[in-house]
Amino acid sequence: MRHVYVHVPFCARRCSYCDFSIAVRKRIPAREYVDAVLQELRFLGMTDPGREPGDAKDGLETIYFGGGTPSLLPPDALGTLLTSLRDAFPATSFRDDVEVTLEANPESHDAARIAAAVRTLRDAGIDNISLDLIFALPADLGRDWARDLDQALALRPAHLSVYGLTVEERTPLARWISRGAAAAPTDDLYADEYLLAHSRLGACGYQFYEVSNAARDGRRSRHNSAYWSGRSYGGLGPAAHSFDGAVRRWNISAWEAYRRAVAAGRSPVASQEVLTDEQRELERVYLAMRTDAGLPVAALCRPLPPSAARWLERGWAEVRNQRLVCAPEGWLRLDALVRDLTGCGITG
Ligand code: SF4
Repeated sequence: MRHVYVHVPFCARRCSYCDFSIAVRKRIPAREYVDAVLQELRFLGMTDPGREPGDAKDGLETIYFGGGTPSLLPPDALGTLLTSLRDAFPATSFRDDVEVTLEANPESHDAARIAAAVRTLRDAGIDNISLDLIFALPADLGRDWARDLDQALALRPAHLSVYGLTVEERTPLARWISRGAAAAPTDDLYADEYLLAHSRLGACGYQFYEVSNAARDGRRSRHNSAYWSGRSYGGLGPAAHSFDGAVRRWNISAWEAYRRAVAAGRSPVASQEVLTDEQRELERVYLAMRTDAGLPVAALCRPLPPSAARWLERGWAEVRNQRLVCAPEGWLRLDALVRDLTGCGITG
């Protein structure tokens, strides 16, 4: 295993659109959290009979602290987690260029706070910075997407993620929409804002290397790229997922239940799914078409059936270096494209 995800479930409050597995806390139980994750790490070591403490077959290439709001953890808690992860993997294969990602929340959607947070990071010597932006917000908010894109670009982050808002059930936003207090975003707004992000970011030297992610100067997320290329990864913490190439497991999502399980020496795994050959093939096609790697043309049946050929005719997909890749308009219709491609029988 070369890629580890650590889920930090705590947030100061719940955002109106969010249905993630989080624990809202005024005081972050950092010590209890670190103890629980370390117990899970020890538990994983104990369940692998071929592994001695401090000895793993593979070293780490990427570590991703996601949430929740991992930046709420105090520095010593993060330091302990990193040191423990390093000690769990042999120094020889803990790569010098290990990529460590930490999601952070500048605590306000005020643009000045975001600029100040970016300055603070750069002053501390961290320049590989990514900003997350959400588009297709309800019109009532009076959002100016072009202005927000330009403000983000003015900070020259190495990486930008743009996510379309989805209205999840059981969120305050869904309730506001159902009682008419807010209007659901339209498909047209979604498409217009997504395509505007492509043209604005492209003009500033960013390359979309995945449906929602763009980087300049090749600074792609190595951790997320591992997910998209189907590599195995391990997850620690409540709600974290793991994948070994065939089986996907996920942990108990509620923080307290997770903590009690590992404290009692029980596995925190809530459930697992063994992927069938058909599911793995569908997932492989879907993941490949999410990225600018696409699929080798040689793997597609020839001639393409009309349902798949129209993607090329309409410019929603193109052939680049002998690979079929999505254009931005194709990424907007990714599910339909994968249906058309898998219906034509991809061969390898
Ligand atoms: S900060 Fe992120 S994880 Fe926490 S509630 Fe808001 S959207 Fe959800």
